[in-house]
Amino acid sequence: MIDTHSHLFEDEFKEDLDSCISRCKDNNVKKIILVGFSHETNLKAQELSKKYDIFYPSAGLHPSEATINYKDDFNKLVEFINNNKIYAIGECGIDYHWTKDNILEQHELFKLQCELAIKLDLPIIVHSRDASLDTFNIIKSFDGKLKGVMHCYSGSLEMAMEYIKLGFYISLGGPVTFKNAIEPKKVAKEIPIERLLIETDSPYLAPTPYRGKRNESSYVKLVLEEISKLRDISIEELDRITTNNSEKLFKI
Ligand SMILES: [Zn+2]
Repeated sequence: MIDTHSHLFEDEFKEDLDSCISRCKDNNVKKIILVGFSHETNLKAQELSKKYDIFYPSAGLHPSEATINYKDDFNKLVEFINNNKIYAIGECGIDYHWTKDNILEQHELFKLQCELAIKLDLPIIVHSRDASLDTFNIIKSFDGKLKGVMHCYSGSLEMAMEYIKLGFYISLGGPVTFKNAIEPKKVAKEIPIERLLIETDSPYLAPTPYRGKRNESSYVKLVLEEISKLRDISIEELDRITTNNSEKLFKI
């Protein structure tokens, strides 16, 4: 298995990162995309990836980082990427959950990262919260030149199919295991299997039966198990396909 989205550099793992990683190995989780979202976490993702070979780092600026200084921040990101090996740009995107006051900066910062991803031929890891139409319109404006993944996708099946038409992958995490997750379960069941990825978003969004507790990358197994039931396909076969999809997208 590959956990395509985790933040294991967070303080929640300070005490027991080594045992978290050995639980991954025990559960057949072989690779983890370690996703940065700010200057500080991009650096942490780099540092940890040098220490543990299970990690593949990304670098990006989350919409909550979009301030009036977004141009300077973007330039700093470009410089960082020029000097460090990364496997994806992100996470980046649009988020109206907390505020819409910086809508212009959010859009500009996201577009700049999309352009950079195209220029560097890297996939983009997209975060979209309460902003599905605006996120989609920006991605669509790049005319299919952009490739990447909609991380912890929570939108409709129809919208997922539109992203797939643009060449995107759809990644599902812990919420697909929740009893009341009607739409994510529908997406898990219906989207083309060759565009499906799995993730944890650790330490957030732990799957059932750990809902509300700290999430960790070995729990990606529970996401895989749930989707295998929904699609009526063996765990081994689904693992083989989703692992293959992740390796193809991230070139890992
Ligand atoms: Zn995340």
